Amino acid sequence: MSTIQPVRGTHDLIGEDQRRYAHVVSTARHHAGLYGFEEWATPIFEDTRVFSRSLGDTSDVVSKEMYSFSDRDGESLTLRPEGTAAICRALVTNGLTQSLPQKVFYAGPMFRYERPQKGRYRQFHQIGAELLGAAEPLADVEAIALGYQILTALGVADDVTLELNTLGDTASREAWRAALVSYFSGYKDKLSEDSLIRLEKNPLRILDSKDANDRALVANAPMMEEHLTPDAKAFWLDLRQTLDGFGIAYQINTSIVRGLDYYNHTTFEFVTRKLGSQGTVMAGGRYDGLVQQMGGPEVPSIGWAAGVERLSMLLEAAPAVPQSVVIVPVGAPDNAAVFKILQSLRQQGVRVEIGYKGSLRKRMERAGKQNASHVLFLGEDELARGAFRVKTMASGQEQEVSHDRLLSDAKAVFAASGDTSL
Ligand code: ATP
Ligand code: MG
Repeated sequence: MSTIQPVRGTHDLIGEDQRRYAHVVSTARHHAGLYGFEEWATPIFEDTRVFSRSLGDTSDVVSKEMYSFSDRDGESLTLRPEGTAAICRALVTNGLTQSLPQKVFYAGPMFRYERPQKGRYRQFHQIGAELLGAAEPLADVEAIALGYQILTALGVADDVTLELNTLGDTASREAWRAALVSYFSGYKDKLSEDSLIRLEKNPLRILDSKDANDRALVANAPMMEEHLTPDAKAFWLDLRQTLDGFGIAYQINTSIVRGLDYYNHTTFEFVTRKLGSQGTVMAGGRYDGLVQQMGGPEVPSIGWAAGVERLSMLLEAAPAVPQSVVIVPVGAPDNAAVFKILQSLRQQGVRVEIGYKGSLRKRMERAGKQNASHVLFLGEDELARGAFRVKTMASGQEQEVSHDRLLSDAKAVFAASGDTSL
């Protein structure tokens, strides 16, 4: 029978891939905790409106990339393409809009129907942080600082640049939008078909176009900066001064409009040159109106999401397989006595492995492959004497350890003989 292949754009996380993935997520989770973010887990599928209402009909995600389907009741459901809209939905439906601010961390798979390539998949994973219910620029800085601290802890901060922009407040955007419409309307013959639609529906989105002709027009388009209201200008200045105070370097990039409709004021991306055109590893911004779109009150918020696969690719090396102690029975010792020792070591927090069968030579070979820190030989003689041989693999040295010590103080036994992982 033919083998069934994984679905295009999906991948298994096994071995080194899984260790990279787990390292990125656990590092992020740890640092998010230091900043007071609590983890939430929301469902992998939602009512389609959670995304269609919030991300905007003309966003790439909603118009081309969503995995939407009708369930057996005919209800339209969507595999989540991103986390923020679902977190806002959860804030509202769990009645948490009265307990603000909420600082939320999440990690999990996301789904987008994209053309798969390096760093771009149909099922990928994100970590994300959302600070809900804080209108001050200091909140933006804290969110960015957390992102930067995670990138630093992963050892990739030197590979990335923080690019920052402002989209202003509603009034600034209205003025800018009008200026963009009048500018692009003069080039209707040159705009791509997609951008002609965007011109009608959401002209800001033209700035995000990947079409080469569009890009050339975008280069001379009116700038947001010229249309900022005094309030929006003050916010923008405060943000940059506070970032300077935190010692976080950034570059202003006026083309960062982000692909989704819900952003205002701050938008930012951490970008690397190391991953070709999939160079954005972490991206986010302020979304003061999103919770309202989910049927809640106005909850000014800021957040970001990062692609775990892209961060995994940037890691210098995959974390090593943790070392373990391998038990090698010699001859035919009493099983019950062997299991007693095996379980006692595990209960004491020592990683222990035992092969189910095989000659002494085979078992020693396997211990080598398993990257064993120690081998503990258990034979009939040793069991009778109440003392066992422990071989430290790095040095090749052997020592005798008493039964009592093994059952009461195993960690010290192995740590003393040169294994730092215990
Ligand atoms: P891009 O411009 O690369 O398509 P995006 O603007 O669509 O990214 P966001 O929606 O902001 O991305 O998602 C945040 C992060 O999630 C991205 O910066 C990226 O690291 C990661 N990401 C997004 N889409 C994918 C994907 N299809 N495969 C892998 N990672 C992804
Ligand atoms: Mg995209």
